[in-house]
This record gives sequence, C-alpha cells and structure tokens, in this order.
Amino acid sequence: MIAELIVGEPERVAGGCAWAEGPVWTAEGRVRWSDIPNDRILEFDPASGRTSTYAQPAGFPNGRTLDRAGEVVQCSHGGRRVERDRAGTVEPIVDRFEGHRLNSPNDVVVSSDGAIWFTDPPYGILPGTVEGHEGAQEYGGCFVFRYDEATGELRAVVTDMTHPNGLAFSPDEGILYVADTGVGHGVIRAYDVVDGTCTGGREFARISPGVSDGVRVDVEGRIWSSAGDGVHVLTPKGVELLRIPVPEPVSNLCFGGDDGHDLYLTATTSLYRMRTSTTDAAARTRGITASEV
Ligand code: MG
Repeated sequence: MIAELIVGEPERVAGGCAWAEGPVWTAEGRVRWSDIPNDRILEFDPASGRTSTYAQPAGFPNGRTLDRAGEVVQCSHGGRRVERDRAGTVEPIVDRFEGHRLNSPNDVVVSSDGAIWFTDPPYGILPGTVEGHEGAQEYGGCFVFRYDEATGELRAVVTDMTHPNGLAFSPDEGILYVADTGVGHGVIRAYDVVDGTCTGGREFARISPGVSDGVRVDVEGRIWSSAGDGVHVLTPKGVELLRIPVPEPVSNLCFGGDDGHDLYLTATTSLYRMRTSTTDAAARTRGITASEV
C-alpha cells in the first residue's frame, strides 16, 4: 500500500531559482510558483515542458492557493497582505488586523465555505531580509487568521505558535494542520476546527531533518510535508509512512496534473514533479480539479 503511493521518481522540471516556494496548480493547467529572493513568479507548462516568467517584480509573493472560483489567492511579503491575481491583475484582499499591518503572510488555504485561512510569520520583514522589505511587527504576534470576504471579518484563530507557516485541512475540514518553522525543530500542530475557530491545539508531528514548511493533505487524510531531505508522508495519526528523497531541501508542494495525481515540489533552486496514486483533499471539497476527485 505504501509503495503504491508513489508511482515515479522525482523529476526535475525547472531550475534557476534562489528560493522556490508557493506552488499551485492553476485552472489553466500550469504550475505557478514563487522565486522569492528574485521577486518573480514562474509558471511551468507541462504540455510544452517550458517555464516562463509570469510576473517580475511581483511584490515578493510566497504561498498561494485557488479560491472556489479557481482564481489564485496569494500571500505577498512586499505588500504585507493577501491578494488575488485575476489574469495578471492583482487586487488586495486583506492587509490589516485591528488597524495594524500584517507581518508578511506566508501560506494560504481556502475552506469549502470560501473563507481564506493564512499564516503570518515575519520572514518578509525581518532585518536583512531578501524576501521582502524590512519592517516592524505591528500587532505584536504571528497568528493564523481566517478572513471572511463577505463580512470583512479578520479573525485570529491560532495565537499560540512561534512562526506559523504551511497549513492544510483534513478532508472533512475538522482539523487544521499548521507547520511552525520558528521553534527550532520541524513541528506540525493540529487544531480542531469548530464554527470557523480553532481549539484543542496539540503537537501532531515533528519533521527532521530540516523543517516542515509546506503541508498538503490527500483524500485519504495523509499529511504530505516538506522536509530537509525531501517529502515525508504521515498518517492521520501522525505516524511516518514514507520518506521520498529529493536532491534539494523541499519548501512546499502541491498536487496537480490533469488528473490531480502529479505532486509538484518547490525545492530550493528547482521545481520537481513526481507521479502519485492519490490527490489533494482540497481539490475534492472545492470541486476545482480533475474529473475523478
Ligand atoms: Mg512557507
């Protein structure tokens, strides 16, 4: 069963990045990701095998996802905000919490009710940063937020983490997994989600070597985490099932391809692709990918 999860070896399909992050499979059938220090957004087209520059400068974007309409929602370090990219036209979604600027939103998911959940560590505003612009942490924390676009309510749902980073829901959206890259070891925490809030926070797993930066959950509830040596796959109980070695440290990952079975990895300088036998749980709940999911 475990061996069947991975069908092929990681294949390097693009390179030349300084720090690759934030991959998403777009409605147009391409992988879009960030090369943060070079302040650009790249796209890989599997039909042609070519990679092109989508935007540069780009406001130092990091993680991204699709909303329920299939449009790209992304985190902007430079703009200290979450924003939406509609065919190259970028509009802000949210940039303040209780009147204070956000730090530098890092990664984002959209729940099936359309709410935007994102993490807000300080990596894009730290002294000497090459991933944004130096600045102050205005609200005095690093929270996970839930933003309701219909009402404009920005709710702090997790306030007990050091540097919340990648995040993903369980298939029924009853659990939110959040990686913490600020605690010196690769911790993933889990929270019960009740009525748009998070309760019962607990340590779910530790990833080593490296840290868990980006996480995804597949349709069976397995957690796929980036790590210093590749990708680690965990059971819903947090037990390590599988390690997939990748030649470069992995920052983040996304499922894609026409059938949703291709796993794309942003790994330091490169984008890798690997065939799997599963798909992203979020694709099913949002109904945006692939016929079979
Ligand atoms: Mg990240």
